[in-house]
Amino acid sequence: MFKDLNSNKKAIEFLQKELNFERESGTYLFYGVDRELLKKFAKAFAKSLNCSNYRDDFCDVCESCIRIESETHGDLEILDDITGIKIEKIRELAFKDSTTSYEGKRKIYIIRDVEKLRKESANALLKMIEEPNSGSFFILTSTGLNVLPTIKSRSILVNILQENAQEIGVTQEEYKFFLGKSKDIEDYKRVGTIDLNEGCSFERIGHNIKNWIDTGEFQYKVEIYKSIRDFLNTKDYLTTIDKLYFVDEIVSSISDREFIKDILGYTISLIGNRSKNLEKLLEIKNMGRSSINLKNLLVTFYTNI
Ligand SMILES: [Zn+2]
Repeated sequence: MFKDLNSNKKAIEFLQKELNFERESGTYLFYGVDRELLKKFAKAFAKSLNCSNYRDDFCDVCESCIRIESETHGDLEILDDITGIKIEKIRELAFKDSTTSYEGKRKIYIIRDVEKLRKESANALLKMIEEPNSGSFFILTSTGLNVLPTIKSRSILVNILQENAQEIGVTQEEYKFFLGKSKDIEDYKRVGTIDLNEGCSFERIGHNIKNWIDTGEFQYKVEIYKSIRDFLNTKDYLTTIDKLYFVDEIVSSISDREFIKDILGYTISLIGNRSKNLEKLLEIKNMGRSSINLKNLLVTFYTNI
């Protein structure tokens, strides 16, 4: 329920007002740095729009709420592709939108990472939100406001702020370790037995990545973070060979660009302004978008820290 969300009271009040208007259709752009928190709020809003017992808050127990939570609701569609939603997916959505509502209330489309939409996908989406069918609601999410102006201008903007340590119920130290990311922190609290002070050698990064991919167990994700932390703590004593070994371990365990960008992002956030080369490192990280060879990118990055 809204009242269980510990942060963003202002955004919640705003959404409650929106719900009271009982609009026929609408497009909302939820933006903020915490990608998973955006999804959480998008789902909360989706539940509110379709809840059978809505009274200033969704109930979280009716069939509609439960099925939206488990993402099995017939009138809910979530498009999720961190590399940018493909045009075919938007077309399928348009087709679905033109047919009648399956479960009778509102159709809700959560479209994530709209800042990454390519031009043709964005234009296809634009067509839908320009003249929305009655009962259709679009909840777009984006980690920044660098969204196509034509989409932005047709959306109701809702800023979802990152939760602070107190709201999320952890110490500053724990918060910093996870860079304030709500999903990671929730997983950390759920597991409950992870010791963040315990170290993990940078040499084990490949092993940790493999375990994380194979098992999906959160403790291995934490071990990856720890290996990066160890690399940064010891970097002044490491030889070039050590640094190349670290890179080799990463690239031989994974080839997913988004995953590697997350590793670079975590590294940059941990060093913060301690590095004289911060700008250069950010520039190298952003090269990850192009087709540049990943190993070269990582070598350049980790030998410049
Ligand atoms: Zn409900």
